[in-house]
Amino acid sequence: MPQEPKKRHSKARKRTRRAAISLASISLLKCTNCEQATIPHQVCKNCGFYAGKKVTSIGQVKVTKA
Ligand SMILES: [Zn+2]
Repeated sequence: MPQEPKKRHSKARKRTRRAAISLASISLLKCTNCEQATIPHQVCKNCGFYAGKKVTSIGQVKVTKA
C-alpha cells in the first residue's frame, strides 16, 4: 500500500503554493547591429551578430544610417 497524506491541506495552503508558480517574463536587449529585440547571450536571429561581430550568415545586414 502506498503512503497517504495524514491530513488534507487547506484551500488557502494549496492556493498560496500555486500562486508562487508562474512564468517569469524574459528580458530582451536591443541588438547593437540591427536594433531588434534579442535574447541576451544569444546570436541575433535577425542579422546573425553576437557581441558586435558577425558570427553566422543568417539574414541580411541592414545598413544603418550614421
Ligand atoms: Zn541584429
